Amino acid sequence: MLILVCNVGSTSLKYKLFDMPSAEAIVECRTERVGREDAIFTYKNNRSGFSDKAECLSIPDYASGIRLFLKYLLDEKSGALESIDQLDAVGFKTVLAKGFYGVHELTDDVISAMEAYVSVAPAHNPPYIQAIKVFKEILPDRLMVGCFETAFHTTIPLSRRIYALPYEWYEKYGICRLGYHGASHSYVSRRIKEIAGEHFRLISCHMGGSGSICAIEDGRSMDTSFGFSLQTGIPHANRSGDMDAYIIPFLLSQGMSMEQIMQGIDKKGGLLGISGISNDLRDIQEAAEAGNERAALAIDAFCDSVVRYIGGFYVELGGMDYLVFTGGIGENSKLVREKICSRLECLGVRFDSAKNSIAKGEYIISSADSPVTVLVIPANEEVGIAQTIYEQFS
Ligand code: ADP
Repeated sequence: MLILVCNVGSTSLKYKLFDMPSAEAIVECRTERVGREDAIFTYKNNRSGFSDKAECLSIPDYASGIRLFLKYLLDEKSGALESIDQLDAVGFKTVLAKGFYGVHELTDDVISAMEAYVSVAPAHNPPYIQAIKVFKEILPDRLMVGCFETAFHTTIPLSRRIYALPYEWYEKYGICRLGYHGASHSYVSRRIKEIAGEHFRLISCHMGGSGSICAIEDGRSMDTSFGFSLQTGIPHANRSGDMDAYIIPFLLSQGMSMEQIMQGIDKKGGLLGISGISNDLRDIQEAAEAGNERAALAIDAFCDSVVRYIGGFYVELGGMDYLVFTGGIGENSKLVREKICSRLECLGVRFDSAKNSIAKGEYIISSADSPVTVLVIPANEEVGIAQTIYEQFS
């Protein structure tokens, strides 16, 4: 079964074409800076070895970006398909739709349900809706599937998902903790299952531009740091993460507008907000090393928040066999991994600094006698989506 997985960012389009069930990634492609005159397009056909990179392209919108990719995919020299009919399905790492929390064929009803939650996921739902509509227009007969980021978390007990708010709000508006990053956490969970077998207690830390911590038992999500929106949990690159809801009416009473407050929470918060330097941890680490106190504070606040969730999830799971770091920060920041793990000795984490400093790709960074095995696992959300679609639609 040939499955194309499409990962849509606010300014990017990433694709992987998988041959299932082997999960061979035949083609990998990404377009960055969609909407600009200096877009970057990289394409690689892993089977034939063909690769191409073009910079300064004009990709004014998603439609032109998608058409360019399909042209490469079907081209005699670069292509992997002779005809688009060979493609069995297109899968999307969709975020959120009202009332649809699992894996769904992207019918008009499902797309309307995504539109209904644009206000909850303003940075994520609009680009997905646009890209899906373009794909449906170009390929009207193909199976289009949305693997909603919330799907993996439907196994969390209601007592951990319900907010202590009027129950009618849950019934009428569906307000409860939904959880995101399902594709990443489920990929990590599948990988640990391959290593550990059926029974394991795992805490998965996806730390990238957005971050979330997930408690997993025997492959099932049991709790997660994300709540109803992607605004919650640990600090993100630009978004605040958890905050007291009463900060909003207080700031309104001080004369700030709702728009200003939302900007602060949504775009000027997170690592950027605390550090005042950048939303990218690389810049913040550099500034902290040079003695910048707010940069150091941002790193400490981030690590403290992760440790707080790990501690709580350890108790909820009744222990921890595996701790995994994934995502751009999880895979690359030795400093963050060390700061977090050095606080977890009381939970049975014996951290190996030497291994941590040379970790590349999938790597164990705990000592051989550590009761908890700590690993770095590179994120591979796309393969998780292809596996899910193959399991449900083949
Ligand atoms: P997204 O969540 O947007 O998909 P990624 O998972 O790729 O993004 O994570 C991006 C983040 O990873 C960057 O903003 C940066 O903070 C962090 N990052 C990437 N490389 C490094 C590195 N070498 N050291 C520290 N942080 C890094």
